[in-house]
Amino acid sequence: MPTPAADHVTALLASYQDFPETGILFRDLNPVFADAVAFRTIIDELAERFHGQFDAVAGIEARGFLLAAAVGYAAGASVLAVRKGGKLPGSVLSENYDLEYGSACLELEIGQLPEGSRVLVLDDVLATGGTIAATSRLVRRAGYRLTGVGVVLELTELLGRDRLGTTPLHTIVAL
Ligand code: AMP
Repeated sequence: MPTPAADHVTALLASYQDFPETGILFRDLNPVFADAVAFRTIIDELAERFHGQFDAVAGIEARGFLLAAAVGYAAGASVLAVRKGGKLPGSVLSENYDLEYGSACLELEIGQLPEGSRVLVLDDVLATGGTIAATSRLVRRAGYRLTGVGVVLELTELLGRDRLGTTPLHTIVAL
């Protein structure tokens, strides 16, 4: 049965054919984030699903930041920013990966949390899973335990879920 958060996402989600490239059906969650009740409802669902299972929330640039900041605040947890390549100073770990369109690099600063900290990774959309798989590698290489992954929207045809192994995945809406 759809949750209240799922109902909000389904009602507000916008779709754009051929953005940012021909052949991509881009799913825009900004209208969901722009609705105060919808935003609170998705944050509450993600925080509740993983309650007691994480010490920190890692958000993936850029829309994952919005989710991670809010869930981290709600849960009293630390927040980590997983950034696109070249934006972080100091000692960073890097992971290159393929996207549904193009390729990319993600980075994480090391030494921000105690060894073995439990990390929840959040992003807006799970498509091919490359982004979350790369983030999972960063979290583990940094010495943390990946205890969950949460996304607002899962594009099931792209089979991203298969790349996450045994890590628990929570999806608010699967299309
Ligand atoms: P992937 O690595 O293929 O799972 O792609 C996930 C990342 O790319 C997420 O950070 C999404 O924001 C973005 N993304 C990929 N495909 C789409 C899509 N069809 N609509 C919206 N965002 C997408």
